Amino acid sequence: MSYKVLDDAVRRMQIDLQIPMQIDSVLQNGTELKISREGNVYWIDFPNKPMLNSENAIEIYFQGHPKEAVRAPWDGGFSWKKDDLNLPFVATSCQGLGASVWWPNKDHMYDEAESLSISVTVPEGLINVSNGRLNNVEYFDGKAKYTYEVKNPINNYGVNINIGNYTSYQEVYQGENGPLDISYHVLKQDLEKAKQQFKQVPMMLEAFEYWFGPYPFYEDSFKLVQVPYLGMEHQSSVTYGNQFQNGYLGRDLSGTGWGLEFDFIIVHEAGHEWFANNITYKDAADMWLHESFTAYSESLYLDYHFGKKAAQEYVRGTRRYIENKGAIIGWYDVNQPSKGNDKYYKGSNVIHTLRQWIDDDKKFRMLLRGLNKEFYHSTVTTSEIEDYIAEFTKLPLEVFFNQYLRQSNVPTLEYKLEGNELHFRYADDCLDGFKMPLKIYVAEQTQWIFPEKSWKSVTLTQANDLEFDPNFYINTVQLN
Ligand SMILES: [Zn+2]
Repeated sequence: MSYKVLDDAVRRMQIDLQIPMQIDSVLQNGTELKISREGNVYWIDFPNKPMLNSENAIEIYFQGHPKEAVRAPWDGGFSWKKDDLNLPFVATSCQGLGASVWWPNKDHMYDEAESLSISVTVPEGLINVSNGRLNNVEYFDGKAKYTYEVKNPINNYGVNINIGNYTSYQEVYQGENGPLDISYHVLKQDLEKAKQQFKQVPMMLEAFEYWFGPYPFYEDSFKLVQVPYLGMEHQSSVTYGNQFQNGYLGRDLSGTGWGLEFDFIIVHEAGHEWFANNITYKDAADMWLHESFTAYSESLYLDYHFGKKAAQEYVRGTRRYIENKGAIIGWYDVNQPSKGNDKYYKGSNVIHTLRQWIDDDKKFRMLLRGLNKEFYHSTVTTSEIEDYIAEFTKLPLEVFFNQYLRQSNVPTLEYKLEGNELHFRYADDCLDGFKMPLKIYVAEQTQWIFPEKSWKSVTLTQANDLEFDPNFYINTVQLN
């Protein structure tokens, strides 16, 4: 592990490795360093005061039987499974739990390893697939050692190993940054099914490069790897267990039919290459930055391939999972995202609502591409993203974000009709200063209204033919 000294007053380094794994020794330039354990934390003491900004490296020797996954990927660790031919099918997953469940590292999201080398030794006949590009395979004593090199910054939980009776095939995608190497790693018996289903990978890349900009890891290639659990956004080796069918294990999450037009795991997990792996939260409280934008990527995939109506119906359809029980943002500094699904489907509907307010799809697309450029290979906070969006759109979004991300209640628009007069306001439980404009249709003519918390009025041409644009995620209540 290489490191740079940012504070020369400190002679101690924290490395995390979770019980029951253990570190045996740590060496620097051939000299063994003193280590002490405090639960899942190891303290490494350096004999001399380090030089500010100097760079050095330590070797960490570790061992143990890592925690077995209970319900991968949510309650992760190692999945020791068998495939349907009764051959070993092994995979890691560790989002939330932390990568230190199976390897020693600085287990915090704010700092990513700049690059990585992963070596895994397996019985000959089995194959290991990890992130980045396969650099070398060594055979010895009936074993094979696979070494992969990752050239881009990578978040800890993105690192993975997958072992199975794999076969693979390749293709080259001509993308925005030139030729992108794609490889598919699947169980031999599933090859034909995979070749059919994975035709959606180039379709996914085409849609997401259009909306988000170039795939962020050309140097490391793109891999889709079959695993014995549902799937996970492992960087440059996205894992797949959706049984070669469309939807989420065959189900349409939106209830509109559109969710059966794509393979949820290919689209969602690969969407995370932009929002999770390229732009990464510093703190799990901000997990919506990963999940809301990626849930919205499902709608954007439909938008690109099936049109705007499909995309709108899909994202609105997913509102049925919204709970509104708590804020989308979780708790800072304690590795705690918000509970429940709202960071997925409420979040995607908030982004969709913002898109309506912007009312310019070209600009909205440039915003998504701008985010991926501005925060390329970075770790970020919600406030940095809010500031960027406000600056880019020139819209007063402070209260909008507070209302939707830091409160649980959905804004309610109260309105009354008196003849052709429409009276309207945002209800008392909206935050002060919440004044998102709304699009309405009067006899199919588009019109904007500008509600605030005090009553306002507008004269309609035909009040008996009024419709509020359903793409804004609000409640409407007609008062008598
Ligand atoms: Zn996700």
